[in-house]
Amino acid sequence: MLGLMQDQPLLISSVLEHALSAHPWSEISSRTVEGPMHHCTYADIGRRAKQLANAMTSLDVQPGDRIGTLAWNGYRHMELYFGVSGMGAILHTINPRLFPEQIEFIANHAEDQYLFFDLSFAALVEQLAPRMKSVKAFIALTDRSRMPAIEVPNLLCYEDLIDGQSSEYAWPVLDERAASSMCYTSGTTGNPKGVLFSHRSTILHSLALCTSDGFGLSSADSALLVVPMFHVNAWGMPYAGAMCGAKLVLPGPALDGESIYELMRTEEVTLALGVPTVWMMLQQHVEARGLDPAKELRLNRVVIGGAAAPRALVETFETRFDTRVLHVWGMTEMSPLGTVCTRLPKHRTARLDELLDLQAKQGRALFGVSMKVIDADGSELPHDGKASGHLLVKGPWIVSQYFRGEGGRILDDAGWFDTGDIATIDPDGYMQITDRAKDVIKSGGEWISSIDLENAAIGHPAVAEAAVIGIPHAKWQERPLLVVVLKSGKAASKEELLGFLETRVAKWWLPDDVAYVDELPHTATGKLQKMKLREQFRDYRLAEG
Ligand code: AMP
Repeated sequence: MLGLMQDQPLLISSVLEHALSAHPWSEISSRTVEGPMHHCTYADIGRRAKQLANAMTSLDVQPGDRIGTLAWNGYRHMELYFGVSGMGAILHTINPRLFPEQIEFIANHAEDQYLFFDLSFAALVEQLAPRMKSVKAFIALTDRSRMPAIEVPNLLCYEDLIDGQSSEYAWPVLDERAASSMCYTSGTTGNPKGVLFSHRSTILHSLALCTSDGFGLSSADSALLVVPMFHVNAWGMPYAGAMCGAKLVLPGPALDGESIYELMRTEEVTLALGVPTVWMMLQQHVEARGLDPAKELRLNRVVIGGAAAPRALVETFETRFDTRVLHVWGMTEMSPLGTVCTRLPKHRTARLDELLDLQAKQGRALFGVSMKVIDADGSELPHDGKASGHLLVKGPWIVSQYFRGEGGRILDDAGWFDTGDIATIDPDGYMQITDRAKDVIKSGGEWISSIDLENAAIGHPAVAEAAVIGIPHAKWQERPLLVVVLKSGKAASKEELLGFLETRVAKWWLPDDVAYVDELPHTATGKLQKMKLREQFRDYRLAEG
């Protein structure tokens, strides 16, 4: 027997319509590419998203068409989020930090019909336009007076395009399983693969962000999205913000410590989200200027994800900023959120060092994400916080296959997706990532966590960044090499660094050597590119005693 409740599809347009009726006045503050701040409301976003939908109808955009964007976090990008998906087309956000050849590959693979771009990317668009075969027109996200002087066929102006269009638009009633947006994985090995999100997966994921054990997002928040809108939909925040009426603060291209601190102060930010690297830049700025964030800011939660949150970073937020850190884990294939590290009642009386140990973990699964760890034979490992194995996930906002079936079958017979991460799960359900499967260091049949070693090394006051890779070893198969970037003007010898680590990790984990470099290779999403680093150190030999 079916339930007798209304059968309404879960659609992105319904989130916008809710914002328009429940909190039309809630703000979107954006730092523009040109520099000045721009302030508008969900009512403005809604009106202009409808004008955009009408404009795209006149451009003959069809349901299911892919519409590319090369854009920073800003209000026009928000309009595209709702206008494009709302009308049934698919918003394809492209990461501008990828190599031009990868961007070309992605746009062609997705067969983008139109490409909207911020002025920062005008030269890139001019370079790539002749090779973007499916793109019918390139639309600069600006007004007539700032149009770039570039040689691009079918160059249009965004403000001209929507100007004069009606702000009335009846959103189509789509199948909630229809694709709404897409994002390509960073592709550290091989070509990037497309992940195709649906209206349903997006809405369920947004609801999870609003729960108290998610990000606890609400209309009381002013949320700063340092995480880019071109990477997994800024972790779903534009939709979740519209759902609950949170004010959104969009930083444009200015992601340096000073700009971010200024936005936090002037926009009275309560919640901020980003990867560890941006938070390190922020903390360095605070340290260098001798600022007092606990007094000057209203910040009460910082979400850190995308890479492991180093303990020192968490401690500074908790103590100097008086801000709760929410360590999160996920991946493009998971929309992206999988776990959030929040506290349980039993932690109420915990000491700071115990809490910091807890916050080193990536957290507990949200409803909607099932997790398990398995060994090489596929047997499930106990949730004892010790046994580490391959982390598998399952749930309604997790990928079932890549766009165009690339990579073949990616789920096992029971529907589990292998994340490629190695993790433990403790008896309270807290998951901790110890490594990417391909980065783990296999020493004498045991695994050494490169992430743990890196986090420990980062705690040294002279270390700006650290990476640990496995180097072949005759006796032990592999041994760790610590590669560090020192803070400018600081020094730390190998003996000093190893001595520092000795008190923080198991003795047999201690790196066999330390190498100093000026910078470490990163992917377009700011993750350490271990493969490149391993290549760089291919001929490196450890002194084997
Ligand atoms: P992406 O799809 O580019 O977002 O990358 C996802 C991958 O980033 C995951 O599979 C993890 O390897 C890594 N990652 C994300 N969040 C964390 C975290 N909090 N700690 C450690 N690794 C993380």
